[in-house]
Amino acid sequence: MKEILKKAQKEHYAVGAFNFSTAEILKAIVAAAKELKSPIIAATSEGEGKFFGWREAVAMVEVWRHATGLPIILNLDHGKSLAMIKKVVAAGYNAVHFDGSGLPYAQNLTETCDVVKYIREVEKTFDRQIIVEGELGYLRGASSLHKEKLEIKESDLTSPEQALDFVERTGVDSLAIVIGNAHGVFKAGEEKLHLRRLAEIKEAVGDKVFLVLHGGSGIPAGDVKKAIELGIVKVNINTELRLAYKAGLDKELAEHPDETTPYKLLESSFEEVKKVVEEKIKLFGSENKV
Ligand SMILES: [Zn+2]
Repeated sequence: MKEILKKAQKEHYAVGAFNFSTAEILKAIVAAAKELKSPIIAATSEGEGKFFGWREAVAMVEVWRHATGLPIILNLDHGKSLAMIKKVVAAGYNAVHFDGSGLPYAQNLTETCDVVKYIREVEKTFDRQIIVEGELGYLRGASSLHKEKLEIKESDLTSPEQALDFVERTGVDSLAIVIGNAHGVFKAGEEKLHLRRLAEIKEAVGDKVFLVLHGGSGIPAGDVKKAIELGIVKVNINTELRLAYKAGLDKELAEHPDETTPYKLLESSFEEVKKVVEEKIKLFGSENKV
């Protein structure tokens, strides 16, 4: 599992982490990856996983791995407690993101250390490999369409010195950073990345950790490309998939108001989500990397 990200780090591309909460969204993500021969990370937030079912998500990803031969990592996105992490690890998730970024730094450190310690024990006891991601910086927004303007303060950004300290003291495999990114898509103006800050963080942490960009939706493609050149190896995409899903469903309902067959109603949603994933895979450079 870790080799998937190591290869991306070495070859300077990023693996997309795509959120799903229904079977056809997962199917669309996998279909896009299969067509483009790309490794992928399928992710659920706490809410998405609860809706889908934790063991059900593990079982379905396993089925898709067998069916396609693709490397697919199943990741918990924004786990907020050790209890939640334990739950998904027991279910069989391959990767966990513990988000302590809302906590004071010292507490984020302590709680992330507890998570990493637990993960390493599980890895040793059960001969499993689990990727653990921590987070530093103030990441604004939620995975939806925002009408208000996004304002990111300098103080929200991840500090390079703190990033190095955090990585060395916690031993996380991956680190989510804030460099001007935010969750969601903002109607009033695109998000601009602070690429210089990213370069400074990369300079500080080197290859000790996989750098992760959350809130990949709504960031101009050029900025995402540069961020990957500068060392980002995982980019999270959720909102754009949600918007594509909704647009597809709206279209079907408008064009065929009397249709009652679910798989026909969901056909456009499937196609729209798949299209977004394909675009992102090409943008991230993970095409033909399996
Ligand atoms: Zn996120």
